[in-house]
Amino acid sequence: MRGFSSLPSSAQRLQGKVALITGGASGIGESTARLFARHGAKVLIADIQAELGDSLSKQISSESGQQVSYVHCDVTKESEVENAVNKAVSLHGKLDIMFNNAGITGKYDTSISSFEAEEFKKVFDINVYGGFLGAKHAARVMIPEKKGSILFTSSVASVTYGGVPHPYSASKHAIVGLTKNLAVELGQHGIRVNCISPSGMPTPLVARTMGGLDMKQVQEALLAVANLKGVKVDCNDVAEAALYLGSEDSKFVSGLNVVVDGGYSLRNAGYG
Ligand code: NAD
Repeated sequence: MRGFSSLPSSAQRLQGKVALITGGASGIGESTARLFARHGAKVLIADIQAELGDSLSKQISSESGQQVSYVHCDVTKESEVENAVNKAVSLHGKLDIMFNNAGITGKYDTSISSFEAEEFKKVFDINVYGGFLGAKHAARVMIPEKKGSILFTSSVASVTYGGVPHPYSASKHAIVGLTKNLAVELGQHGIRVNCISPSGMPTPLVARTMGGLDMKQVQEALLAVANLKGVKVDCNDVAEAALYLGSEDSKFVSGLNVVVDGGYSLRNAGYG
């Protein structure tokens, strides 16, 4: 985890921006909330983990000096997504960046013979429909402003075989399709839409899928399969991509799937 010292305002790439991050209480969302606040953004952490989200937002707020709040939001419930977006507008007057990041892997079973309809639907409900709802309500408030940046977290499983369960892989491909479609529609309103595809990151989600390893063991396991040797990956590497896509630095970038994997997917596709 990188330090919190606030940057000089000239170096703050999100100064004056308002960002909403779903799944912001943990892992990639948490790191992004920290980085965005460090870069001058007012942040809303939207999650279903109320206690964690609330304490995290207070901590980031006191360490960064930015306004950071928690809003309870189950991304599968449209009224809660609508409420989270409305809260950003009522607190700060606008929404500049919507990061649809909440996601689950679902039951870690890679075999089609143990397919369960309910499990498949649950993964799609959170990973795809939840992201779609986030985009829908962000677009509602961004269209009148004729600007905004909508982001999704896809996965390296959208570009290569990741050894992940079928519903998860399919849901992350769906996010790429959604990104492209929305980039075309919302581009007419000055709104950019992009997604980020990380390879394995040391987060609770990955620790769970690895059978409950601790973070040190997760790091070791990730290093063992990495393409880029000697680089210790952390969620901040994904947060930095979100910072670029959320900021004006990427003002002409839309419809892109930014793969943050140190070249892993190329090796896995047989080029290495
Ligand atoms: P994580 O489990 O650490 O965090 C996910 C957060 O989403 C949690 O805080 C959880 O409470 C929240 N969440 C779950 N269901 C929700 C719902 N219905 N509504 C609102 N919030 C909900 O996981 P992470 O690794 O940080 O994953 C974040 C995203 O990154 C996910 O979309 C995941 O698929 C994707 N991803 C992760 C990795 C990785 O290696 N960690 C790699 C590729 C993609």
